[in-house]
Parts: sequence; C-alpha cells; structure tokens
Amino acid sequence: MPLLQALRRLGQRPTMQDWPGLIEAYRSWLPVSAATPVITLREGATPLIPAPSLSRLIGRGVLVHLKYDGLNPTGSFKDRGMTMAISKAREEGSEAVICASTGNTSAAAAAYARRGGMRAFVLIPDGYVAQGKLAQALLYGAEVLAVKGNFDRALAIVREVADQYPVTLVNSLNPYRLQGQKTAAFEVIDALGDAPDWLCIPVGNAGNISAYWMGFKEYRDAGLSQTLPRMMGFQAEGAAPMVLGHTVEHPDTIATAIRIGNPVNKENALKAQRESQGGFLAVSDAEILEAYKLLGRDEGVFCEPASAASVAGLLKRREEVPANSTVVCVLTGNGLKDPTTAIEHNDSRFHTGLEPDTSVVASVMGF
Ligand SMILES: *Cc1c(COP(=O)(O)O)cnc(C)c1O
Repeated sequence: MPLLQALRRLGQRPTMQDWPGLIEAYRSWLPVSAATPVITLREGATPLIPAPSLSRLIGRGVLVHLKYDGLNPTGSFKDRGMTMAISKAREEGSEAVICASTGNTSAAAAAYARRGGMRAFVLIPDGYVAQGKLAQALLYGAEVLAVKGNFDRALAIVREVADQYPVTLVNSLNPYRLQGQKTAAFEVIDALGDAPDWLCIPVGNAGNISAYWMGFKEYRDAGLSQTLPRMMGFQAEGAAPMVLGHTVEHPDTIATAIRIGNPVNKENALKAQRESQGGFLAVSDAEILEAYKLLGRDEGVFCEPASAASVAGLLKRREEVPANSTVVCVLTGNGLKDPTTAIEHNDSRFHTGLEPDTSVVASVMGF
C-alpha cells in the first residue's frame, strides 16, 4: 500500500518528510532488492491539480486534472526514471553514465549520477536545448557535449559509445527508466481512487506513455483500480512520427522536449494506444502556445511548451470526451526551464521604462 494512504488510515497526518522518494514508496512494484543502493532526491509525490478553467471550457461535467510532474527535484518527470536507472547503474558497479537529451534527461542524469558519485556525459543538440536545462546540466556537474545534429543523431552516437566503452546508457532504452516512470500512474490512481477515463500526454520518444500504460495495467491487475484509461498521445505537428506512421527526418517544433523524429519506444506506445483504444494526434505550435498561455493565465500552472501539448490535444479533441468523465493531462516539465519562450509568448502587458513616480504608476494602472 502506498505510504501516504497507509498513514492516513492510521489517522496520522502525513508530512513531506514521510515521502521517501518513489523507490521506497513503491518498492514492491520495482526491480530493486536489498542490495540496490537507492539514489534519491525524494522525487515523485507530485500534485494532481484540479483545473477548473479547463473543465469549464470543456463543459458537460468533464473534470480535468493536471499531473504536475514539473515539481520533481530537477523539474521534470525524467527524475522518476533516473532514480531507478542510476540506482541500478550504481548497483552494477558503473562509474559513468551517458545519455542523449533534448535537455531534461541530461538535467536528471547529471543530478542523480553526481549524487551517486558517478560521471555524467550528456550529448545535446547544439542550439536546441532550453536555457534552464543547459544551466542545470552544467551546474549539476555533467560533462556536456553539444553535437551539430538533432536528438535522434545524438542518440545513435551515445548508443554506440555505451556499446564500446564502460559507460551505462540512461536514455529510455534503459528498461529501468520506464519502471521508475510507471509510478506516476500509481500516484494518479492513489489520488483519484481509480484510473481516469482519459490520460492526455505529450509524446516524444514515447517512453512516458508506455510507462504510464504499464503502471495503469499493473494496478488494475492487482485490483487497486477497476478501469483503464484511454491513452491519448499528442505530438507537435512538425515532429509527429507516431501520427504519420513514419520517421520524421528533420523534426521541428517550438516544444524542444518533443522535437524527436524517430521514437525509441514506438512499439510500446503503439501497443498502449491499441490496447487502450486511445489515439495519437498532432497539435500545431500555435495550439501548443495557446494551451501553454491558458495554463499559466487561467490555472496558475507554469509548464514548459512540450507539456502543454497534452492540454492542446485535449482541447482539440474536446468533442470526443465523454460527458461526466475524468481527464488527467500530464504536465511533464516545469515552465521555468524555458524562460525564453515565456517571455516571447505571453498576453501580458509589460510596461517598461517608467519614471519612479506614484502618479505615473497609478496612471499606467488606469487610476
Ligand atoms: C522527455 C519529455 C517529454 C517526452 O517524453 P517521452 O517519454 O520522450 O515521450 C515530454 N515533455 C517533457 C517536458 C520532457 O522532458
């Protein structure tokens, strides 16, 4: 039983310090043993936030919740997979890890690897990583290699390096990553009491959608939930291989975290879609930005552009959402990772260069 639920049953008020991180909280569901050194930053236990404005917009009694995984220690859901991948790498005696990344994987890999006393090598597409993410990788002590080429190219290189040299690959090809990530589905069910009707999620390498599906099925099979959600995966129009059914040679979108043309986990993701009677759909950059602004302005939730694809997709398919159903949109990363996009795309008024004078300020305020 999840720890917090157990505490509530005992009539005790849980505090944040009771949350031990997701490996301890869900130990029996994960491939760890007493010999596994748990490397944790107490990731997981992210809030499921009701979204009243979105619910109103969709209407017909639909209740929308946001799984805000941007509140993990390095600001994205990647921490869920990384606590597992790095703990297992440590257990196996690894001294260095490597990944290709659009930014968030490198931030998480760097933080957990360094905490575990390992070297972290990260390959990023030169010029296509949001500034906050690059700052994180550098500050966490990674060795950053920016390659001229996109994510898919960088991934091909790290696979070869990991094959030939003593470094552990921690991209989502690493099976422990998805094991850790499936705990997000457990948390959704722990919070709602059952699975939602729809799960809306951005899709890049398609690892997260595969991990959620694994988590939902495991809880259902264990009798901890009664139903399974429809898995609705959303991609950016310029990087939509799951929608098109083929690799995209030159993926392009403002949502850099999902700027991926050849998803590593496409087979698993297709299975999730088939088994759940879900779907894949593309949303335009303009639709992503509209959802991104709406989340900030009307819900008070700042996510990164890639994350907003889940809400953009829900809005695009709103007619198909059954009346009175429950929808969870996964917000994969924190908006602070990409301040550049927020400053360039918002509907706020920003008055600059004002004289330091009360009447000037009051008049700008409209008084
Ligand atoms: C990694 C990432 C995604 C995509 O997840 P996949 O598992 O690659 O499909 C989406 N949003 C953010 C913020 C990410 O960091």
